[in-house]
Amino acid sequence: MKSLIDQLDQEHNLSQSQLTTLLQNITPELSEYLFEKARATSQNYFGNAIYTRGLIEFTNYCKNDCYYCGIRKSNSNAIRYRLTKEQILSCCKQGHELGFRTFVLQGGEDGFFTDEKMVDIISSIKKAFPDCAITLSIGEKSYDSYQKFYNAGADRYLLRHETATDSHYASLHPKNLLLSTRKQCLQDLKEIGYQVGTGFMVGSPYQTIENLVADLQFIKEFSPHMIGIGPFIPHKDTQFASEPAGTLELTLFLIGVLRLLLPNALIPATTALGTIDPTGREKGILAGANVVMPNLSPTSVRKNYSLYDNKICTGDEAAECRLCLEKRMNKIGYYLSSERGDFQPII
Ligand code: SAH
Repeated sequence: MKSLIDQLDQEHNLSQSQLTTLLQNITPELSEYLFEKARATSQNYFGNAIYTRGLIEFTNYCKNDCYYCGIRKSNSNAIRYRLTKEQILSCCKQGHELGFRTFVLQGGEDGFFTDEKMVDIISSIKKAFPDCAITLSIGEKSYDSYQKFYNAGADRYLLRHETATDSHYASLHPKNLLLSTRKQCLQDLKEIGYQVGTGFMVGSPYQTIENLVADLQFIKEFSPHMIGIGPFIPHKDTQFASEPAGTLELTLFLIGVLRLLLPNALIPATTALGTIDPTGREKGILAGANVVMPNLSPTSVRKNYSLYDNKICTGDEAAECRLCLEKRMNKIGYYLSSERGDFQPII
């Protein structure tokens, strides 16, 4: 098995059957071997710097009904909220003072935020904080809308493909949501010129090793600038409430594999990873991740942006979150960078 990891390290690719073999034979020893290589790769591109993105969860209204998600439209227990433009700008101001140079605007697919409103918000942030990058994570939109947001100053876009297998996609989403639409959106975003992030949940219901291999192959082929993966975690008000969460071991292993597949990609150690294990994010960094995304949302709404149960950091102020992460990173020999942290192509 170690020879497969050596091959992956050298060639940044493996065949479908090799990837399958690798995922079927995960052991603690093999994982450690993988993480050493992945860490070295990440060190090679980013040194000990960890990029930070300030996450602003600006609306939990959503028109979609993804079966796994706590803020799905039909969850009548969700307490809905929207931040005003002024509240969003004040999160950015606070974030800027704390050293953030990327703001991620994430939300459900909320019709209240028309293209016009989004353009206004994006251009206002850009005007107030010209040295910052803006990342959007607001789901499926038309080419035209994506273009408008880009022209207004959005730099990056996160849109996880969730699973690269049509039948699996259909078991996680209602009929009106299609993997093909998701993929088209990703193509559009790339064509427009965004730095694009995609990714998937690890251990989502019905997921097989074959599905995961398809995810890895899709990502290798699409070659995104950013890759976000995290364990699936059940939410009490969804049909997957009693499904088991994805495991730490498998998520970390996949982070390591992704680092070797796309050596210079931006890979976050996600909040979901920090939720299933108290030091999950540190372990993510040590498995090859190089980004963290602490929360800048006002404390008053944090608990309501509940994609899954027991989400961490819902009671902390932005400053506490940054400080806490800084300490965590320092403890494992890394530091939080105050740069924008754009994707750098390999020359
Ligand atoms: N509406 C936006 C943002 C979605 S929330 C969009 O469609 O892209 C961001 C990510 O959270 C999702 O892409 C999904 O992968 C993840 N997520 C949602 N529910 C989850 C759960 N129960 N466990 C773990 N991750 C979840």
